[in-house]
Amino acid sequence: MAAAPTRRPTVSHCFDGAVLALGLGLFAWAVVAMFRHGTQGPGVEWLAIPLIAIIARFPMLLDRGAGGIEVGFDSCVLMFLLCTVPPAQAIVLWSLGVIVTQLPSDKRPASKSFNIGVGLVGGGVSAAIITGLRGELGSPQELLAVALGAAGYFAVDFLVSGISVALEAHSSLRAQLVQPGSLIAVACFVPFDSLGYLGAVVNRTSPWWVLCLLAVPLVTLLVATRAVTRGGEHARRLSVLFASAVRAQTLSEPRQITDALVRDARQLLGLKTRDVVLRDAPPASGEIGARLRDGRRDRWLVAPSQLRARSTSQADQTALEALAAVSSDAFARLRLGEDMTHLARHDLLTNLPNRGLLRDRLEHALLMSRRRGSSLALLFCDLDGFKPVNDRFGHAAGDAVLIDVAQRLRDCVRESDTVARLGGDEFAILLEDVRPTEVDAACERVLAALGTGALVAGHQVPLGASIGIAFGETGSSAEHLLRNADMAMYQAKARGKNRYVQYERSLGRARVQRLELLESLRTAVAAEDLRLVYQPVIQVDTGRIVGVEALARWTSKGMSVAPDVFIPMAEESGLVVALGDLVLDLAAADAQRLVAARGGPLTIGINISAQQLREPAFVAKVEETMLKMPDANLVLELTERDYVSHQAPDLDAMTYLSERGVAFAIDDFGVGFSSIGYLQDMPVRIIKTDASFSSAIDRDERSCALLRSITLMGQALELDVLVEGIERTEQLEHLRDHVGAPFAQGYLLHRPMPVAQVVEALRADTAPIDVTDKVTAATPA
Ligand code: C2E
Ligand code: CA
Ligand code: CA
Repeated sequence: MAAAPTRRPTVSHCFDGAVLALGLGLFAWAVVAMFRHGTQGPGVEWLAIPLIAIIARFPMLLDRGAGGIEVGFDSCVLMFLLCTVPPAQAIVLWSLGVIVTQLPSDKRPASKSFNIGVGLVGGGVSAAIITGLRGELGSPQELLAVALGAAGYFAVDFLVSGISVALEAHSSLRAQLVQPGSLIAVACFVPFDSLGYLGAVVNRTSPWWVLCLLAVPLVTLLVATRAVTRGGEHARRLSVLFASAVRAQTLSEPRQITDALVRDARQLLGLKTRDVVLRDAPPASGEIGARLRDGRRDRWLVAPSQLRARSTSQADQTALEALAAVSSDAFARLRLGEDMTHLARHDLLTNLPNRGLLRDRLEHALLMSRRRGSSLALLFCDLDGFKPVNDRFGHAAGDAVLIDVAQRLRDCVRESDTVARLGGDEFAILLEDVRPTEVDAACERVLAALGTGALVAGHQVPLGASIGIAFGETGSSAEHLLRNADMAMYQAKARGKNRYVQYERSLGRARVQRLELLESLRTAVAAEDLRLVYQPVIQVDTGRIVGVEALARWTSKGMSVAPDVFIPMAEESGLVVALGDLVLDLAAADAQRLVAARGGPLTIGINISAQQLREPAFVAKVEETMLKMPDANLVLELTERDYVSHQAPDLDAMTYLSERGVAFAIDDFGVGFSSIGYLQDMPVRIIKTDASFSSAIDRDERSCALLRSITLMGQALELDVLVEGIERTEQLEHLRDHVGAPFAQGYLLHRPMPVAQVVEALRADTAPIDVTDKVTAATPA
């Protein structure tokens, strides 16, 4: 029995030293006395030393917590010795036994020396009581003396250990002595020690080997003791582990989890404060440990490896592993929660905050700015030039560009500002505590950062951004600010992209007007309230009309709205599909009149948008239109930008239709995308060079040469080349003399006209011309 104090205050140290000194003094006296009086006895008494060491390994643990009472039964050997050999000899043998037990144990040196001291002093007190009270050998008085001697030993051990612990822990002695289980301890201790007396009595009356019979009750008792001790310990550990597992479910901070882990480990192993630690290094020799996985860096829960009555170091190791597993689970739960919150609030691709998180930060920033009187700005950035990247190089390339853009935007602002991705190619930047000039500077930085373009699959592609700025004002909400910045961004796009525009109230009005206009267009399309005008196409050689291009016209509230305004609006809203169907119907209705007026084959060009081609019903609609205009050659015009954004279904539809006699033309050729490689894969028959190429052919030699090479290139690919935008006679002359393109269109030749007027023009243009060889577009395969 003995507590094992760790680092102790000086008083406690002195006390322990005094106990040891007293014990050693007693030992020295006994040695001297033994040699003076000589030794006696049956000869087996020397076996007492190993026996003490063995029995000491099987103490009984009473009470559950750390620092409970540990009752050793080795003192039964002391009782045997005191009743068998002279007291001095008994003390010497006992002392040697105690020393042999303690020295090789894995306790701290301080604990060992204290335990030796207590053992020796207790032995001395016991010897004094028994020698003084024994009376006649074999009398009941001797039995009583042995019982009192055992109780005396216990009392000394209990009292001295209690004082030592109280001194060390600065606690009251009473608290140390009045412990649950101390009475049970005495109740077990005294009868067990009497087993030593039984041995002495047997030894007096029988030959020495009869003593061996005592091994049976002794071993039974020791084994039972160990089973009780370990069973109790096992139950105690399970309850600690269970409580720890239950608690782990409720902890929400990493610190709480590690604190609880170390605390539980100490309680579970019954160790003192400093013995169990959580550290980066794995256990060294003489230590046991278990790995704690916290999802970031692994650490080790480490404790000293000890062989103890209550458990083995293997059992301790298993216990630590179980505890660490419980805590690792708690960490996994914590990290999972963190990940889920992160995922719900961030964009998967760029890892930037998403719209939800931006809105929260914006609300918070608005509150803070109101309190501090500072100002904040929200930038709404929409990328320019991103869609072609996605369409041409695929979504993986598009994703890579978005990730790159996200990083560039982050680099443009301070750490404290928020860059969020709203979806698609839309980003938002929240600048807190800024002055208007700083906002302008930030916008410039963003434009400069994106202006360098991106390298995609070995191609340098241009990038830019249209930025709308909204400043937080009193009373504005996050929703408000987002809407205003969005409106300003639209304005930046409308003013020519790659620029920034600050929100003003008038933008709001413009937006409302736009929405009203779109509604009005929707109504007009539904009511088939659109008209077509036709602009003739002429053959340059002869000046004769070979075809017409249908152009949509719309009058809203008595005002005509330009196609450049309503067509993009219809494209953005998806209305262009219905609008396009209407245009086909209107053209089909006019077709036969036009063909009749021409008196021969006539090409009718109709502008379409890529969206229409993606519509599954479109092919049927075109076939239906062709049936209604059997004598016309249908040309569908798509702008160059629409061609490069081709997707498989478009190409299939185009191939299908071109096999049935529809010719496809590339409108505004030359301004959309610089690469011409795509021409080879497309079922295209005509290119219409953009008006900007012909605008200066009569004034600038290089401009003329450029148009000539485009024409040559088109012809090399066996395409018909049509030059748009001929407004002056000089242009027409240059076209005829230097460029060599076969077809032309322009205000000089004919303006777009209502159908009745075109009919007139066609009738007036009566000279028969043979176009079958020259206008391949007019000749279905
Ligand atoms: P586009 O297909 O390139 O049509 C030619 C445009 O240039 C027409 O403008 C025409 O009036 C104009 N134009 C013709 N000759 C000259 C000239 O010598 N000088 C100048 N400065 N301009 C000339 P419009 O009718 O305003 O159409 C604009 C655009 O709207 C068209 O460009 C076309 O892309 C689109 N569009 C028109 N109608 C439709 C339609 O029914 N469906 C679709 N999807 N788009 C249409
Ligand atoms: Ca056109
Ligand atoms: Ca054009």
